[in-house]
Amino acid sequence: MNIAFVSSEAFPFAKVGGLGDITGALPKALDKLGHKVKVFIPKYSLINFNNHKLEYVAEVGEMPIRVNGKSYVTRLFKSYLPGSFVDIYFVDCPHFFHRKDHTGNDVIYTNHQDEDERYVLFSKAVIEAIQRMKWLPDIINCNDWQTGLLPLLLRDNYSWDRFLDPVATAFSIHNIGYQGRFPKSLMLKAEIRAELFYPNSPIEIMGTVCFMKAGLMYSDVINTVSPTYAAEIMTSDYGEGLEGVLSYRVNDFYGILNGIDTEVWNPETDKMIPVNYNINSLEGKYENKKHLLNSMNLPHYKNTPVIGMISRMVGQKGFDIFAESVYDLMRLPVQWVILGSGEDRYENLFRSLQQMFPDRIATWFGKNEQLAHLIEAGSDMFLMPSLYEPCGLNQMYSLIYGTVPIVRKTGGLADTVKDWDEYSYRGDFSGNGFSFYDYSAFALFKSVERAVNAFYNHDVWIQIVKNGMISDFSWENSAQTYLKMYESAINKRRG
Ligand code: ADP
Repeated sequence: MNIAFVSSEAFPFAKVGGLGDITGALPKALDKLGHKVKVFIPKYSLINFNNHKLEYVAEVGEMPIRVNGKSYVTRLFKSYLPGSFVDIYFVDCPHFFHRKDHTGNDVIYTNHQDEDERYVLFSKAVIEAIQRMKWLPDIINCNDWQTGLLPLLLRDNYSWDRFLDPVATAFSIHNIGYQGRFPKSLMLKAEIRAELFYPNSPIEIMGTVCFMKAGLMYSDVINTVSPTYAAEIMTSDYGEGLEGVLSYRVNDFYGILNGIDTEVWNPETDKMIPVNYNINSLEGKYENKKHLLNSMNLPHYKNTPVIGMISRMVGQKGFDIFAESVYDLMRLPVQWVILGSGEDRYENLFRSLQQMFPDRIATWFGKNEQLAHLIEAGSDMFLMPSLYEPCGLNQMYSLIYGTVPIVRKTGGLADTVKDWDEYSYRGDFSGNGFSFYDYSAFALFKSVERAVNAFYNHDVWIQIVKNGMISDFSWENSAQTYLKMYESAINKRRG
């Protein structure tokens, strides 16, 4: 099968969150199963190509792409996903993809006026590049709102090209909280037919053009990244206004759990941690704990558990209930290592906690890939109290690194973390973490307290740690399910 995988992020080139990890990993798994995958992302100024060979794709040449009435010269560059022969193509248009934030740092996403135009150009450029390469994908897998218009453009603006007729489309939701809703003026900027915009049309929501709705309505099949999140977003509690659209498309809607890239995330081979270890050499994990505490300037106490968090500091990730329970949490005999950045109110909370408890909590603000690995390897527990979590990767990294996750039972967290049942008399010793259901400060605190109590029972703790470490989250199974979904899309398209 020929598969075009279109995304706004790809690890290790450009990553903000889980979407980057998935774009860097799923195509490699599909490739290993014998399929030809080409990945497309924008060529952001943020990408550092130092360790990657980059070639100009001369056969595509200069593509004039029109957005908002102006024509922009767009080129294509090619490299490989590291450790594979999967082609990754970079759509180059400096006007749109060389962007900085207000502090002068290069960024992927912006809050600039033309954020919509940036991804209109990207989608059109991918279609035109495919035309010029004369490479016929059986399926184009679009991801998240940034690529939501592509299936519509393919079926409407580019429908004159019969070459593209048999190409099926899939649209993957990685987070329904970000839908790409823009003013109606986008219709003109993107040159989408005006007739397609009317109340409740396949691209309209609350008077705006919604990229994600277009992706969901114009693709042959759609999916999201865990079975529980798939069920949740068909309800008004989680669907963010798109629950009706998903229910309408329920027969073509799949929930496929993400895998993890075990070449990058594996405690036995991880090059970013000081000491490699496995289920039979957990002493190595305790060495990493010392390194972690040392690097964060925290003292090392032998019997105090360390809880890690790595997260965008936004409401979705549960920081409001964390803030509410913080003074109870700080009464527990625990050290905290936090990595992330985001909203000021949460960053300020951690700044003041650090001042109040300098030997108990340390925070690194910003992105730090190496520290993320060290936190997974060196912490005893990992907290993810998310309000919602489409799949979540860190709880899976935690499980295989022997770091016991404490999570809210939602989305992919519910699909991967099995609550340890300390009251069970039936002898179920298969739990691999701690979870709570109510989105409340009290429930969060109680789960952390349960985990801390379990930590002091050495045999119980080792059992929970090992239950996590034997998990298999490799991409192969999920890639097989993606292939089945692609096949059904292709069958639909070709009748
Ligand atoms: P989301 O995509 O909603 O942010 P996921 O759990 O699906 O959440 O994926 C987050 C990914 O981003 C993980 O690989 C995580 O380790 C990484 N990550 C998040 N914040 C940071 C950070 N500050 N530094 C390094 N990696 C981070």
